[in-house]
Amino acid sequence: MGAVINKQAFDVQAIRRQFPILSREIDGKPLVYLDNAATTQKPQCVIDALVDYYTTCNANVHRGAHRLADEATQRYEQARDTIATFVNAASRREVIWTSGTTESINIVAIGAAQLLREGDEVLVTQMEHHANLVTWQQACKRSGAKLVVCPIDENGELNLTAFGQLLNERTRLVAFPHVSNALGTVNPVKDLCQQAKAVNAWVLVDGAQGIAHEPVDVQDLGCDFYAFSGHKLFGPTGIGVLWGRESVLAEWPVWQTGGEMIATVTYERAIWGELPGRFEAGTPNIADAIGMGKAVEWFSALDMPAVMAHERALIESATEQAEAFEGLRIVGTARNKVGVLSFVLDEGHPADVGFLLDRQGIAIRTGHHCAEPLMGRLGVPGTARASFALYNTLEEVGALFTALQKVRNLLG
Ligand code: PLP
Repeated sequence: MGAVINKQAFDVQAIRRQFPILSREIDGKPLVYLDNAATTQKPQCVIDALVDYYTTCNANVHRGAHRLADEATQRYEQARDTIATFVNAASRREVIWTSGTTESINIVAIGAAQLLREGDEVLVTQMEHHANLVTWQQACKRSGAKLVVCPIDENGELNLTAFGQLLNERTRLVAFPHVSNALGTVNPVKDLCQQAKAVNAWVLVDGAQGIAHEPVDVQDLGCDFYAFSGHKLFGPTGIGVLWGRESVLAEWPVWQTGGEMIATVTYERAIWGELPGRFEAGTPNIADAIGMGKAVEWFSALDMPAVMAHERALIESATEQAEAFEGLRIVGTARNKVGVLSFVLDEGHPADVGFLLDRQGIAIRTGHHCAEPLMGRLGVPGTARASFALYNTLEEVGALFTALQKVRNLLG
């Protein structure tokens, strides 16, 4: 599979220099980019990989009988190998290219809708992103299965007692996030998978937020599906991955049909091709797959324990300053959380907070974060959310709170 990678020592300034956009200014103020849960910025090597592909070997993959097509296919498939190594897939056949987490979940849900029966149950959680909720609502609607929602507590942690109690012999599929995008809560994925497997349920992990913050070993986690996006992992938009256990994918109904996903076709019928192509009908997003492969290569070369320690320092500092900030309430205080500080201010609506921070060069996100039911559960219309990535600094966390003081003065 992938080449052996030498780990680089973690130096946040050296990392930052690899991201051209981080030296941008907003109205003469240095950009402080704290919207990483929405999308991450891209290192120069990823940008270069995209340019290089289009400059030197753009062609359609798998079907050409010429040099460019060979080279494009080779790069595209090498990128798949990089992903397979990254998540410790048992085989490259388990790595399906998709347009992102949303499409990855939809592929599983469209297939599941054909496999589920009336009386079956699908278990999700109160902390889902809409991508892992609406999708299952639809699959249940189509199949007659029942959607069951596991509660969370006031801190934004999953109620593990309820999770265990809700699992039963009717539970056919369990879907939950690795990390909550709105709260930063890290779920005990391995434990949840074990419990779901004890009732023979399929398990899908929404890894959109987990993949960039913790090492992911899909075999060790014990899930059947793990979904993630390139753009939240320093790669391009419009590309993502569905990892699926081969034995499960082999039985899973296909979703889209067309070219590339078949073995043979007559006017009457078609026989599906092998994995992973069976789930990749049509011309894929070749350039961005190559770009995502490069992003993962770049990310894999970092010293992950050092990255995690740095990110821990960022969230700890942010939490400490938030707790000391009068009139600020943190939304989501799980014991195990990464990368996300969601909050509300007494003085202002989150949208106003976001607007006034932007005037100071600070980019955060405000609103319900595609988790509208979760906001309702926590009794807030929405939050202001600062989300951190490995290139953020403690100084930037400080800048957020200095700017928030000004916001408070303006709104108060
Ligand atoms: N799941 C979670 C937890 C997310 O945070 C997101 C995006 O914010 C998604 C799913 C959807 O990802 P994408 O928009 O890349 O498909």
